[in-house]
Amino acid sequence: MRAVSRLTAGVVKETAPGERRVALVPVVIGRLRAAGVGVAIETGAGAAAWFADEAYAAQDALVLSRAELYAAADVLLSVRRPDPEAVGWLRPGQAVVGMLAPLTDPGYARRLADLGVTAISLDGLPRTLSRAQTMDALSSQASIAGYKAVVLAAALYGRYFPMLITAAGTERPAKVLVLGVGVAGLQAIGTARRLGAVVRAYDVRPAAKAEAESVGATFLSLSSVAPAAGDGGYARALTPEEAEAQRRELADHVAGHDIVVTTAQVPGRRPPQLVTEEAVKAMRAGSVIVDLAASELGGNVHGSRAGETVVSDSGVTIVGADNLPATMPAAASNSYARNITALLLHMLVDGALVVDPTDEIQAGVVVTHGGAVIHPGTARLLGAGQADGGER
Ligand code: NAD
Repeated sequence: MRAVSRLTAGVVKETAPGERRVALVPVVIGRLRAAGVGVAIETGAGAAAWFADEAYAAQDALVLSRAELYAAADVLLSVRRPDPEAVGWLRPGQAVVGMLAPLTDPGYARRLADLGVTAISLDGLPRTLSRAQTMDALSSQASIAGYKAVVLAAALYGRYFPMLITAAGTERPAKVLVLGVGVAGLQAIGTARRLGAVVRAYDVRPAAKAEAESVGATFLSLSSVAPAAGDGGYARALTPEEAEAQRRELADHVAGHDIVVTTAQVPGRRPPQLVTEEAVKAMRAGSVIVDLAASELGGNVHGSRAGETVVSDSGVTIVGADNLPATMPAAASNSYARNITALLLHMLVDGALVVDPTDEIQAGVVVTHGGAVIHPGTARLLGAGQADGGER
């Protein structure tokens, strides 16, 4: 028996430069259909991730032009924010689900609220809730970034990762240092280990030690920095004195490694600088650093710039990583599609999308609804005392 579709989910073609992911892949359409959701895609939405229109059509998805899609969809599904030009096509009561990053641009949320659009952002998910784990797009994408960072480093490194004993002699294994042992860092450690490297890892959160060791790294403890666990499993920002002491002590360790992968982030702050110019200079020529924290806000490594690979005067290659998940579009889209599908199914009641801000998951992800910005953090950024009644 086929469920009657009450809701149409429309998958947009991503328009951000270099973005190759797609919000939904054909294999998850059956789950949505079973819940009464019909699917439409914008022509070519999955092409950059090698999901052809025909593969979606084979799952009974409609393939529409952009204008047709915006007109037909009750809920638009995206990875990044939908094309700014298309925002004007949105209509009251329509919903947009994606990684909308409302905290970095609350004005965008305000615009969607003014249009009467319900904005749902996966990056606000309460990640430590176990029932939300299938929806955790930040983790699924960070994990891909951690993997790809090591693969990139291996490709740029002029030597082997594993120890090799051949008739021509012995190659020692690469020494890899991972700074920041969150989701990306753990995947970086595991990947480097699988390639045969000797891996050390460091984080300011004491809980990271056991996690790093469980995937095969030796944990580095610094004597100059006190444990710095913050709220919700994240790190707290270090004081300027602690940060300086950390950089000094880390420099010696950095110099002793061939590959450094940095992933350190503190919510709501610029990424901490961990690797100084002097530390880069002290590394051997041919060493490689991949800075996963590189963004327009800065990065973990002196001289790294998002989207750029530079070779220092001393011969150290520094990669400022920029949206690595988009460089593995099929895998990244597969996991993102499962995350967004799980969230959508969570919010469906009898085939209709029902906003319930008393639900812990929805309280994190629903940014705008009924003409108001209801996400507390976003509403706060838009200004205390905003009279839209949105603060909870
Ligand atoms: P993140 O991207 O915010 O930061 C990456 C890592 O950088 C973190 O481990 C952080 O401690 C570290 N860091 C910050 N400042 C540092 C410094 N000065 N020096 C060294 N390291 C520094 O982290 P994330 O990957 O989003 O994960 C954050 C936390 O959330 C972790 O504890 C993770 O285990 C947890 N988490 C839990 C779940 C779950 O329970 N289901 C899901 C996802 C993440």
